[in-house]
Amino acid sequence: MAMYVQDFAEGDKDQKDLLGGKGANLAEMTRLGLPVPPGFTITTKACRAYMATGEVPPELRVEVTMALRRLEDEVERQLGDPYDPLLVSVRSGAKFSMPGMMETVLNIGLNDASVKGLAAISGDERFAWDSYRRLIQMFGKTVLDIDGDVFAAALDAKKEARGASSDTDLTAADLHELVDEFKAIVLAESGYPFPQHPREQLDMAIVAVFDSWNTDRARLYRRKERIPNDLGTAVNICTMVFGNLGETSGTGVAFTRDPASGQPGQYGDYLVNAQGEDVVAGIRNTLSLADMEQVDPQSFSDLRAAMRRLETHYRDLCDVEFTVERGKLWMLQTRVGKRTAPAAFRIACELVDEHLITMDEALTRVTGEQLSQLMFPRFDANDSSRVLLTKAMAASPGAAVGAAVFDSEEAVRRAALGEDVVLVRRETNPDDLGGMIASVGILTARGGKTSHAAVVARGMGRTCVVGAEKIDVDLATRSFTVGKRTVKEGDTIAIDGSTGEVFLGAVEVVPSPATTYLERGLDAALEQAGEDEDTRALVRAVDRLLTHADAIRRLRVEANADTAADAARARSLGAQGIGLCRTEHMFLGDRRVLIERVILAKDDTQRQDALDALLPLQRSDFEELLAEMDGLPTTIRLIDPPLHEFLPDLTELSVRVALAAERGEDTPEDIELLAAVRRMHEANPMLGLRGVRLGLVVPGLFALQIRAICEATAVRLAAGGNPHPEIMVPLVGSVQELYLVRDEAREIMADVARERDVSLDIPVGCMIELPRAALTAGRIADAAQFFSFGTNDLTQTTWGFSRDDVEGAFFAEYTDNGVLAVSPFETIDARGVGKLVQIAVEEGRKARPGMTMGVCGEHGGDPESIRFFHAVGLDYVSCSPFRVPVARLEAGRAAI
Ligand code: ADP
Ligand code: MG
Ligand code: MG
Repeated sequence: MAMYVQDFAEGDKDQKDLLGGKGANLAEMTRLGLPVPPGFTITTKACRAYMATGEVPPELRVEVTMALRRLEDEVERQLGDPYDPLLVSVRSGAKFSMPGMMETVLNIGLNDASVKGLAAISGDERFAWDSYRRLIQMFGKTVLDIDGDVFAAALDAKKEARGASSDTDLTAADLHELVDEFKAIVLAESGYPFPQHPREQLDMAIVAVFDSWNTDRARLYRRKERIPNDLGTAVNICTMVFGNLGETSGTGVAFTRDPASGQPGQYGDYLVNAQGEDVVAGIRNTLSLADMEQVDPQSFSDLRAAMRRLETHYRDLCDVEFTVERGKLWMLQTRVGKRTAPAAFRIACELVDEHLITMDEALTRVTGEQLSQLMFPRFDANDSSRVLLTKAMAASPGAAVGAAVFDSEEAVRRAALGEDVVLVRRETNPDDLGGMIASVGILTARGGKTSHAAVVARGMGRTCVVGAEKIDVDLATRSFTVGKRTVKEGDTIAIDGSTGEVFLGAVEVVPSPATTYLERGLDAALEQAGEDEDTRALVRAVDRLLTHADAIRRLRVEANADTAADAARARSLGAQGIGLCRTEHMFLGDRRVLIERVILAKDDTQRQDALDALLPLQRSDFEELLAEMDGLPTTIRLIDPPLHEFLPDLTELSVRVALAAERGEDTPEDIELLAAVRRMHEANPMLGLRGVRLGLVVPGLFALQIRAICEATAVRLAAGGNPHPEIMVPLVGSVQELYLVRDEAREIMADVARERDVSLDIPVGCMIELPRAALTAGRIADAAQFFSFGTNDLTQTTWGFSRDDVEGAFFAEYTDNGVLAVSPFETIDARGVGKLVQIAVEEGRKARPGMTMGVCGEHGGDPESIRFFHAVGLDYVSCSPFRVPVARLEAGRAAI
């Protein structure tokens, strides 16, 4: 039994682990009876054995000999035979397609003797020398690591010397000369003559493919794509067929449908009298398949039949690589083809219509990520007037055009006047929130994909580009420079959150039809699409797949929304409730002074006065929200952040007070404020006085909020509404904390019910965002009517990572060295944090059967995390309004 080698005729498409993608599909095509040149695959197992010892296993040499002899017998020629040589290609092919690895060496087996045999047997001397020069060129480049430009330069020089515009214009004699020059290059560059022995050529190429698995480029790619390092690659040895045998030969690539639009009908490029990568290298103009039909109707019709066969067999879009040798078609590769997001949706639905797949399968063929790509408005790539300033990290997609502004206040000021602004900061912090909300886009010079700016922007669905290091932001002159260009406040810039590009001036924006569909329905989207068939097909496909996902998903999808406007948007995008309303936003802006008065109150009366002033404001916020969400659960979280976030920055205030003192000014209020800021300063505010702790320590604060919720509910009930508020307590670590808040809530509820003559039964629950809460969930469930997992804080506290600090500090290194495959703030760490979630679900439901449980926070909109939440048995996920459609789709996929 062979261990390391398998003939094409023996394998099938399900053996990708062993044969790599290319090998498995070559085997499958062979099995289907399609015309594949015979050959064999050296398995990934052989590569792993080689990597383990650094030596080619002796068994492999033997097995290659056996397989080669079988092949030679089958085709009745011998490798490198001087009279009638068998030539082969050596082709890498891992389980996952991997740019960065060695590609292919064609024409192995040619040498100074067999090139003459090939010339004689083919009757085409030019062809033989062309094949030989290609071998030396490819072998030199990929096996011997010689700079490919050296060969390319020699080829160009030869073309120029002969006045040839294309390589096909070179004669046999020219090519013969070129072979000699190439051999000289090999000797000069590698120190050894080009190997003449066919088997030596073959063995060297095989080892080169093995080695290419571990090049820096390949490793980097695997890290990025999360492909394990120990898989190894297979090597395919395939009998050569020749597309460079004159005008009745050629080579091409094709797709069974258009991979860009998804349009049905075959699509591809063909190049006459060419070999291998010529067709994609763009050295000559290619023909379309329609042209190929004119040139060679027989081969075209064979190709079309083969493609139809493949699509029926794989039940999906396939791409193929093929060669025609003197009018005979050969299939050299196929795989299920990559496609754009619009094509994915359209193809999935059309395969259903063709009865090739079911609706469930169709849903597995598209992803939430693809849907989100469809939703972003984008810049018109055809706008030729655009001026690129720099390209940085794409942090939150979209296309934003606006006036550059350099701080939050200016952003808010201009936005209030109806101007679109892009907030440009070195980096953002929580103080910039107002400005970020007011802006259409955010650009920072520092920070990565998980920086404050990036996370907040994604949460809000704001376009954001971060880490634009070429940009020098100067607050003093209110401008930034990029190279020699200076952009002043008010100048228009445009940022593309999908590509990370930053442009000077406006760029045309194209609205997305998928967004129109999601927000305003199918008819509106079809109207927008007009006569454009591709777009019409696309919106119909999105509609069908999302409708199907909604029908089969078990998870409800809610949204994180703080204002009535957010809630309205969320609802229009299909949110079935609000899973998280952050009330602290209601203390920002004008109301900041009111909360400041609460904090600075000298006695209970002063504090109560300040709280009383806030009550009607909060109540009307909640009224609006509950009106917008009529009939749907609306989970309102009591105030969470540490109070100092509502006070001025310690350093700024100290400077202000010191300057005033120097000028001899009397600023008692600032001095008092400074004392308070100092008093409240915490070394570790994220682990400090916040959440329920705040509620229990600052008298009246939670009571105010609870009363506002109760009164707003009463108002809505009186107006004939159907409000469903829920009161959520943050950062609970002990059931005792929750008892205290719950009892207070019950009292207030009863008071308001009496005062307003309504019956109020508002559920009180809590967030599970501390490990202790998760571990004691059974006890907490006694006081909580529902749980909502705050997986951001739970991740932070479980790992002991400070979310605001680690991302820039060492996450990049942690992903590079493989400690983290992905940031645990992006995708839930199922083993650790997820374990706590699982414990809390089990304990909680044991204590309170049927208890409602959900998740709010970034993970609620992350596809992989959604799968986890489905599996662990949550009732809903809550995410930012813009992620709602994505979550609906992914929750559907999770249910299959
Ligand atoms: P890649 O993984 O880069 O696509 P391939 O192994 O598919 O590399 O080889 C690239 C191209 O080389 C093929 O598309 C085909 O045109 C040509 N090729 C490979 N093997 C053969 C062969 N046995 N006969 C003729 N052409 C071949
Ligand atoms: Mg390639
Ligand atoms: Mg290929």
